[in-house]
Amino acid sequence: MSKYSIFSLVKGAADGHMKWPLMWRAPDLKPKYDVVIIGGGGHGLATAYYLAKVYGIRNVAVIEKGWIGGGNTGRNTTIVRSNYYYPESAAIYDFSLRLYEGLSQDLNFNIMLSQRGELTLAQSPEAVEIQQRQVNAMRLNNIDAEYITVAQLAQLEPLLNLSPNSRFPVLGGTLQRRGGTVRHDAVAWGYARAADRLGVDIIQNCEVTGFKRNSLGAIEGVETTKGTVLTSKVGMAVAGHSSVLAARAGFRLPVSSFALQAMVTEPVKPTVNTVVSSLMTGVYISQSDKGELVIGGMLDRFPSYGQRGSFATTEAVLAGILEMFPCFSRLRIMRQWAGIVDYTHDSSPIIGPSPVPGLYLNCGWGGGGFKAIPAGGYCLAHILATGVSHAFAEPFSLDRFRTGALIDEAAAAGIEH
Ligand SMILES: Cc1cc2nc3c(=O)[nH]c(=O)nc-3n(C[C@H](O)[C@H](O)[C@H](O)COP(=O)(O)OP(=O)(O)OC[C@H]3O[C@@H](n4cnc5c(N)ncnc54)[C@H](O)[C@@H]3O)c2cc1C
Repeated sequence: MSKYSIFSLVKGAADGHMKWPLMWRAPDLKPKYDVVIIGGGGHGLATAYYLAKVYGIRNVAVIEKGWIGGGNTGRNTTIVRSNYYYPESAAIYDFSLRLYEGLSQDLNFNIMLSQRGELTLAQSPEAVEIQQRQVNAMRLNNIDAEYITVAQLAQLEPLLNLSPNSRFPVLGGTLQRRGGTVRHDAVAWGYARAADRLGVDIIQNCEVTGFKRNSLGAIEGVETTKGTVLTSKVGMAVAGHSSVLAARAGFRLPVSSFALQAMVTEPVKPTVNTVVSSLMTGVYISQSDKGELVIGGMLDRFPSYGQRGSFATTEAVLAGILEMFPCFSRLRIMRQWAGIVDYTHDSSPIIGPSPVPGLYLNCGWGGGGFKAIPAGGYCLAHILATGVSHAFAEPFSLDRFRTGALIDEAAAAGIEH
């Protein structure tokens, strides 16, 4: 498969754009692989890519029940950042952001990284104090966080409601300048194309329905809707369906699945320069390259597998957006949807071994795992290839729910995205 370059673009144009090769093959499922990855979202595809590229393991299948990127990877609001509070989180999310910073070149695919800055408003005297403390903690973790004043906010976001008479008056904010957005489909497609080039088989429209285990209980294969596949190593990256598959493997995960919604308005000229989040109302907004305002917010309040989201949450999210930007009240919402996100009790991910020998987990990213795709994939590939956890992943083992060494990012990071 040819490399994308200025020359391939010229050739593509000369051919009337009718002869571009397929981005990845559609191979048949083989009877046996060295490693099987369940889930063709960003984490599964990145795992396959790093397995092949970094660890030289190429006899790999990614098995996806629908189409690649059709889960949360293609449904999220595309925010990337690494401004987490705890050192363990800062380390893995910043590793991810650094990988994103070089990913277009690495994959030979433009992922449209836009480091426009991620802004979190402080809307009470308590929030000012806490956010200033958070900035200090983040800087100790080598994260580029800064506290900014209302005057700086007015320059960054001229349309932001800075009236002292509003319900939650804005008193300041925190900014991570390296934060921003990445085109979500491009991440899935870029990893898929690059993994395929290295020999990974991407099998779409194939559901994993069960696990084959040997007399010692270890993995020896997976059952799928296209037949049985033998393998001694399985990586599971199925987000909202993690507890469903864990049940099929015979164990329980401390994961609950909720609908998280997003919506976009009709396109307008450039109006929102950064990603703007409100901890007070739990909502956030950015603007896509097409001009649509991309809006996200809080989880639906009850566990669900319905990829729609409830109207009460839609209404609350939009009320929060209008609190920040009252001038958007006459914009029309064009589309609204939801994805099923997987929450652990400390809102941190699980990466590492499962109770079943040979089965490894990558889940629990909740509403914030898009930014973690490069690191999540890298760390899952590492343990699949070497049998030991990557240093960044070690604190995020399933075992922490037994030892009590939780990393409570729900309290520290406090917002979906
Ligand atoms: C509305 C919304 C907004 C979000 N916004 C952000 C954001 O701005 N920033 C951020 O960092 N994160 C965000 N997230 C979270 C982020 O999208 C997810 O954490 C991330 O995409 C998870 O990636 P994944 O590859 O693990 O899962 P997915 O992309 O969901 O992929 C899992 C795949 O597994 C497949 N699968 C499931 N069961 C089976 C089976 N039995 N057999 C085979 N395949 C199976 C599914 O079809 C799916 O394609 C958001 C999520 C949502 C829903």
